[in-house]
Amino acid sequence: MENIQSNSLYPCGRPLLSYPEPMKLVILGVTGSIGRQTLDIVRSNPHKLQVVAVSCHGNVEVLQQELALLAEACPDAPLPLVAVTDPLARAGAAGQFSNRLLGEGPSALIEAVEAPESVHVVVNALVGAVGLAPTLAAARRGVRIALANKESLVVGGELVKAAVFAHGAEVLPVDSEHSAMAQCLSGRTEHEIHKLLLTASGGPFRQISSDALQKVSLEEVLNHPTWNMGPKITVDSATLMNKGLEIIEAHHLFAVPYERIEVLVHPGSFVHSFVEFVDGAVLAQLGTPDMKLPIQYAISGEKHWPLPGSRLDLLKIGQLHFEEPDLVRFPCLALAIQAGRDGGSATITLNGANEVAVAALLDRKIRYADIPRIIEEVLESESIHPVGCLQDALAFDTQARRAAGALVARLSQAEREV
Ligand code: NDP
Ligand code: MG
Repeated sequence: MENIQSNSLYPCGRPLLSYPEPMKLVILGVTGSIGRQTLDIVRSNPHKLQVVAVSCHGNVEVLQQELALLAEACPDAPLPLVAVTDPLARAGAAGQFSNRLLGEGPSALIEAVEAPESVHVVVNALVGAVGLAPTLAAARRGVRIALANKESLVVGGELVKAAVFAHGAEVLPVDSEHSAMAQCLSGRTEHEIHKLLLTASGGPFRQISSDALQKVSLEEVLNHPTWNMGPKITVDSATLMNKGLEIIEAHHLFAVPYERIEVLVHPGSFVHSFVEFVDGAVLAQLGTPDMKLPIQYAISGEKHWPLPGSRLDLLKIGQLHFEEPDLVRFPCLALAIQAGRDGGSATITLNGANEVAVAALLDRKIRYADIPRIIEEVLESESIHPVGCLQDALAFDTQARRAAGALVARLSQAEREV
């Protein structure tokens, strides 16, 4: 159902889908940081929400613990279908989930979206480009997508938009900055937006010199000052690649050109983002750093349901502080902005190279400072092409990973020889 008034992926000014309670949820990536917080929300709202399918990759033990807690909180709800995408872990789990266990590999994520008889909301809390195909499957099902997996839009923003418009689905952002913008945009159209102001905590290395950045340890990289998140996004927050991915995410969600999306470093993470309107009015959404608020706001269809937790004390905070991001010390941000502006396959190459580099850092094969070098070299070596379909996107992703993998091998070899 296309609306000529509004062309943004996020349904600016368009009516949202409406569902009876309990709303039926598929949670992809249920064992992760966002996935487990989503289950917490379900357990607090057993009459409003019901889980019909979940996925994890290899962490079957956490999955079992989480599902046991869910069954305790929601004793009347039927047990959900289960996708375990890692083949070895799935083989080990076969006896535990019997006929509720879906197929093997990434296609089980599609099954988790398609198999339940009734689905209202797909929460995509997967990490990485693997999230794109299930986002497209959810769009084809014409349902609400509560999207944490920003890589879906970085790799396939145009594909997601086409599928959402063709099938009457909707994408509501879970990322806290984009949720903040959505809250500021409630009831307005994208034509009223002048500029998006995306806040960034600045990560653990905000005040560290370029020289010192060459030597930071993995433990320092993983020590985020304000948010407690999964390992990949924690590394992305330390390189500021996360903010770069979020610029691309905001561009696709709100149909705002890159030159009108700005980043503000805001160390306290109290202001989750701003929207400046065409008349000069600037709206912001503030709160303590707690992902449950944006997760719940997206799942509920933009309702402010009660949520226990700490509250913002503005008198205690006293002042709000903002700085310009440093693109020289944090080249990943500059690389992401350039890839976004270049368009086509450039953001797929950026993302694929980043995923490989981050995994190599987490495996202690390379150093923090190698990450932007790898991404830059891969971006230089890969030419930019249009992306017509999912298969194109996956082919460009594979190519970027191959190129980045070769660089990781070279760098880790050099490291061993030092
Ligand atoms: P986590 O690493 O904590 O969780 C990732 C989830 O995806 C886990 O359930 C994991 O399963 C599963 N998974 C990992 N690899 C694969 C794979 N190859 N195939 C299928 N499933 C896989 O990530 P987060 O929860 O931190 O982040 C999820 C998404 O949300 C990311 O895109 C991130 O950028 C975004 N986001 C996260 C925020 C946060 O606070 N954490 C804030 C804003 C956005 P298993 O546990 O079995 O390995
Ligand atoms: Mg964010």
